[in-house]
Amino acid sequence: MSYPELAVHTFTTKSWTMSECIEGYAKRGIGGISVWRETLEGEDLCRVRRQIADAGLTGLALVRGGFFTGATASERAKAIENNRQCLMEADALGLPQIVLVCGATPGQTARENYEQIRDGIGVIAGEAAELGIRLAIEPLHPIYAGDRSGICSLRDANNLAEELSLPNVTVAVDVYHVFWEIDLREQLQRCADNGWLNAYHICDFKPKQDDVLLDRGIMGEGCIALSAIDQWVHEAGFEGRREVEIFSKKWWARDQDEFLDRILEAYEDIYRGPAD
Ligand code: ZN
Repeated sequence: MSYPELAVHTFTTKSWTMSECIEGYAKRGIGGISVWRETLEGEDLCRVRRQIADAGLTGLALVRGGFFTGATASERAKAIENNRQCLMEADALGLPQIVLVCGATPGQTARENYEQIRDGIGVIAGEAAELGIRLAIEPLHPIYAGDRSGICSLRDANNLAEELSLPNVTVAVDVYHVFWEIDLREQLQRCADNGWLNAYHICDFKPKQDDVLLDRGIMGEGCIALSAIDQWVHEAGFEGRREVEIFSKKWWARDQDEFLDRILEAYEDIYRGPAD
């Protein structure tokens, strides 16, 4: 069994080193990898780039840039510098896309957050374009609106992409964050029709979670209509890989081989059906 149409985020198997991630994904026939900056700590980027290529994996994205908001101009300038660093890393790794978690600052209005995010992306988009790197706005579930992202629906991400109208500013759709949106199908179509739909993350949303950030479900463990959304994503015209992105303290404490095998079993059930 192989999974050429699938990619895994290195933060999913957080307890693994970069080399263990590369090896663990490649030996299961997984086609792609999205690299988290956390996994890269202490690594030689040129070496990682070579390892990914040698393993036959396609590098999809560097995760994550963003966090553009800040109460003062100097905080926002610092955020820009951090994003420039992120661009350099993506370039060194040969990754064509950076996923943006856009940021939100406690005490600011939603409009203030939005405008700072828009302006921040506007500052770095040209530099990203020169390197041939796309910036993918990932809308987050509104539970993170306080301090992680002022972009909390696919509609808002689409509106932001539209306002910026830059060829390398795109959107990353994660089922965890957008499953609840009543106009999701229409917004997926709008996103794809404009050429913005460039990343598609899968996991599941458990209505009862022990941790607001680090208790995401394996596909099938939660409440998301995963098959219906998958159909909409593909009907809209998306042709890229599905990317597994699961944060789970519980699973990180266990054997990561077992976790990844469990993920692939769930993937088979939901995305390939029993006959495949
Ligand atoms: Zn995601």
